[in-house]
Amino acid sequence: MPQTIATLRHPPASNNLGRRRLGNTGLEISIVGFGASPLGDVFGIANPAEGVRAVHHAINEGINFFDVSPYYGLTLAEERLGHALEGRRREVILSTKCGRYGATEFDFSAKRIRQGLEESLKRLRTDYVDIFHAHDIEFGDARQIIDETIPAMRQLQQEGKVRYVGISGYPPHFLMCIAQEVPVDTILNYCHYNLLATDMNNELAPFAESRGIGLINASPLHMGILTEQGAPAWHPAPPEVHRAVRQAVEYCHTRRVDLSEIALGYCLRYPRVATTLVGMSTTLEVQRNLSAMEDRVAPDVLKRIEEILAPVHNTQWPTGRPENS
Ligand code: NAD
Repeated sequence: MPQTIATLRHPPASNNLGRRRLGNTGLEISIVGFGASPLGDVFGIANPAEGVRAVHHAINEGINFFDVSPYYGLTLAEERLGHALEGRRREVILSTKCGRYGATEFDFSAKRIRQGLEESLKRLRTDYVDIFHAHDIEFGDARQIIDETIPAMRQLQQEGKVRYVGISGYPPHFLMCIAQEVPVDTILNYCHYNLLATDMNNELAPFAESRGIGLINASPLHMGILTEQGAPAWHPAPPEVHRAVRQAVEYCHTRRVDLSEIALGYCLRYPRVATTLVGMSTTLEVQRNLSAMEDRVAPDVLKRIEEILAPVHNTQWPTGRPENS
């Protein structure tokens, strides 16, 4: 039975997983969000049946926010998430994206935005998304994003196919500049607030707060670097960042603690974002990431990790059009 926007109700948290208000949207979103890019084999081959179990386990444990994109696994992540959400769609706040369809494939035109949404809705097996993000807008033409892309997304909102409209990308300053020109409901920024970088806090977070824009922090593990297994081969961070994190991992071994859990806990304590999106595809990851909320890190351990990572703090990499970085 198709669900209309007017009838949408998200049930209250069934457990202790905290929720925060997502800007002025009125959505109450779990502080841990489920990043679905790993379901699309972005970080290695995922087991599809285990992915379904991970999604169900996350919902059962109170995670109500799921983020995906047609770009992740070139539609595979949307397909798999759509399948996993069958029968559970009403329980979640679902975000997908438009404008990015491949490593170098971008199209922020109104026509493609509309077509992209229709395709995403089919894969996600739903007739609306809660949040529709223009994906990695630093690869687009700023004037087009402002004059064509966001208005096209607002039109889809008017039609009831999306509830809220947002932008996503890497450079916090560019995201802020666009949102100054054209109102958006949410901003998703990645790799700019975690153990390796905190510059989301400089101007983007206060700006979002001042405008009532819901701020979403993505990639608390810096796209997989802050893990025991290390980053995937495609990771854009320079070698010195990888080396510093390996040192931190070795230190964590000596203290018998888990760097990923500490890294996620660090993000969850940051009050200026509504949620932190962590990429997951197994129930074990869901379980570990929920336990990061227990916040057991000893202050001296955190201090030592921060010291090890200090030489590479806020290291960035070039991405998008030069004029947008
Ligand atoms: P991440 O920092 O969340 O790292 C994901 C990697 O860490 C995966 O390999 C995952 O298997 C692993 N992992 C997760 N939990 C772990 C644990 N407890 N222990 C060890 N390893 C663990 O990076 P991400 O997935 O890129 O970011 C999270 C989500 O944010 C994405 O899935 C996506 O939904 C969103 N995102 C959006 C954008 C954008 O819109 N431009 C960019 C980046 C991320």
